[in-house]
Amino acid sequence: PKPLATRIALVTGAASGIGKAIATRLAAEGACVVIADLDLEKAQAAAAEIGSTDVAVGVQANVVDEAQVQASIDAALLAFGGLDIVVNNAGLSLSKSLLETTVADWDLQHNVMAKGSFLVSRAAARALIDQKMGGDIIYISSKNSVFAGPNNIAYSATKADQAHQVRLLAAELGEHGVKVNGINPDGVVRGSGIFAGGWGAKRAAVYGVPEEELGAYYAQRTLLKREVLPENVANAVFVLCSSDLSHTTGLHIPVDAGVAAA
Ligand code: NAD
Repeated sequence: PKPLATRIALVTGAASGIGKAIATRLAAEGACVVIADLDLEKAQAAAAEIGSTDVAVGVQANVVDEAQVQASIDAALLAFGGLDIVVNNAGLSLSKSLLETTVADWDLQHNVMAKGSFLVSRAAARALIDQKMGGDIIYISSKNSVFAGPNNIAYSATKADQAHQVRLLAAELGEHGVKVNGINPDGVVRGSGIFAGGWGAKRAAVYGVPEEELGAYYAQRTLLKREVLPENVANAVFVLCSSDLSHTTGLHIPVDAGVAAA
């Protein structure tokens, strides 16, 4: 595979939180990055924080919109002349129980995360196959794709959908040299728009802790007693698409500081 310093990455939902940390890390390693997000100004502001337009550009793309997804792939080809790494990171969480979840809630969660990552992966795969240079597709799934917790059925179900997309695409795209892997983070409170936008308050209520202590609460229930930061997820993306991990596909890496078995 090409060295990371010569590679071009597209990260969805990268105006904030984990996605922004991923784009920042890839750019720090010398890659060029396209930051795709709902809000053009936020995407461009995140790109400008990372570097000049030679290194990072921001584009408006709702991952549910097929044409906007294609335009974000085209933006990578146009701005940087290729595409090597695609990170399906865009997401949201409504954090509702089964009885609270409406059909509209279910559809929104599944549209953004299951359908959105399908659209991004399909458009990316076309470009990667066309280039004949291999590549990496990485899904930011969740610990919730594997472990059940209360009050987020639609979110968790769609994260499990993403996890199976990883396995299916690893099988289908391997012959083209495209690796497909996932990351399962948990408890990334600091910097997360999802946590700041209501999920944090709801989770704090579920666990019976003040919202400002949620990060510490998550940390004390991990095996390592550490809080997980967006940078820790970005480190796992770096490892997955570095040339040292050229023979790994279909894997999910937990970035959760360790989950107790019981
Ligand atoms: P965040 O809100 O900071 O980032 C999510 C980004 O996705 C935002 O910038 C938002 O504008 C964007 N987005 C939402 N809908 C979109 C759409 N339709 N099209 C394009 N962009 C869209 O939250 P975060 O915590 O950094 O979450 C990033 C990803 O990590 C999500 O997929 C989330 O489910 C996953 N995740 C987070 C945690 C955590 O503990 N924070 C744990 C497991 C998984």
